[in-house]
Amino acid sequence: MNFEQLNLIEPLVSALLKKGYTEPTPIQEKAIPYILEGRDIFGCAQTGTGKTAAFALPILQKLAATKPATDRVLIRSLILAPTRELALQISDNFVAYGKNLRLRHTCVYGGASQGRQVDALRKGVDTLIATPGRLLDLMQQGFIKLNNVEIFVLDEADRMLDMGFIPDINRIIAKMPAKRQTLLFSATAPAEIMQIANSLLHDPVSLNLSPTSAPPSLVKQTVYYVNKENKRSLLQHVLDNNDIEHALVFTRTKRGADKVVIELNKSGIKADAIHGNKSQGAREKALRGFKNRHIRILVATDVASRGIDVDKLTHVINYEIPEQAETYVHRIGRTGRAGLSGHALSFCASDEMAYLKDIHKLLKKNIDVVSVSPYTIDVPVASARPAQGGGGGRSYGSGGGGRSWGSGSRGGNSGGSGRAPRKRTFTSERRGR
Ligand code: AMP
Repeated sequence: MNFEQLNLIEPLVSALLKKGYTEPTPIQEKAIPYILEGRDIFGCAQTGTGKTAAFALPILQKLAATKPATDRVLIRSLILAPTRELALQISDNFVAYGKNLRLRHTCVYGGASQGRQVDALRKGVDTLIATPGRLLDLMQQGFIKLNNVEIFVLDEADRMLDMGFIPDINRIIAKMPAKRQTLLFSATAPAEIMQIANSLLHDPVSLNLSPTSAPPSLVKQTVYYVNKENKRSLLQHVLDNNDIEHALVFTRTKRGADKVVIELNKSGIKADAIHGNKSQGAREKALRGFKNRHIRILVATDVASRGIDVDKLTHVINYEIPEQAETYVHRIGRTGRAGLSGHALSFCASDEMAYLKDIHKLLKKNIDVVSVSPYTIDVPVASARPAQGGGGGRSYGSGGGGRSWGSGSRGGNSGGSGRAPRKRTFTSERRGR
């Protein structure tokens, strides 16, 4: 299958060839014909599947085919994304794919002055890519009207839900014509998302390209059990002893991200952080530095990381285990993209065992355990589940099956040994590198 066979017009096909795309990804193959036909879509697609082009290409084609003869440019297509990084990335995709078409796109997002965004809007845009907060602001100030929107895309709907954007989205939807085409994409499909999908979509085609539990299949996953106070040393060790040229490191908090960066920089490893407390300019600079490989390690929080798309990212390191198992799937989906292999390493301390168990449950398998003396420990001693994680009644420490001892182990995954928790065998003494 190639792009012509999807009935894409020549200006798009040549732009795709320029990008080096020769054939559509599965979601593109499935979604593009339906979107061109005008159908609503519920796309359950994991990260890195080529989902952005799956909606951007047919939208560009439809807008080009029906462009009004008048010079008046109205917003005919609206893409909502949860974070500025994702919005900017979608916008870059529109620019790249639409370079041979006379259509205008612009991106509005918070954390940047609105002056330039308003200027771009005044010139007129066919497609607006926006984060919900800034869009509402600009709507309230009268700079944006949505009454001509023909195609609406809600991207990463599950993340919108997590970030509390649903009331904003409802206010935005209320300003759009009821008669429109709606495309909803979500990496996971919890009940709340299904409810939103039911209220928003008319006779949708459901494209389920990723069961919730499926991380990109080409990502090798390993976990290191470690005392919290030794995570820094372990990170240093892993970076020194593995073939890691470039890695995205995840922390749960912004402060945690900054701390990791300080430690790495102290030991001569070029690192920068990307999180919500950083200005838009600082975030873009960090991302640029990482993409062009001036920075070896980018440390990110989950919210900031959405939409980070780095070509050929080989390693993701979960310095802290996420509270939501789905977040783990999102995180590791940053690597193993576009058919390349990747490696996700996770550092798990005793108070994160419950989160790891949730991940094992979601994946329906246990992640291989790697031991690196002197930094790692046996199954961490259970402690109380952190308060914010909610939900009690868990049994700890029994999910550490599938061990494959020895660093760099590649042992197959396991069936779970059901081992009982053991006392920690490693002293908490910090060792030098
Ligand atoms: P996405 O899931 O939209 O974030 O895309 C993931 C990555 O795949 C991005 O780097 C895209 O540029 C790339 N990509 C999308 N479609 C194709 C394609 N048909 N062939 C090769 N790479 C693609």
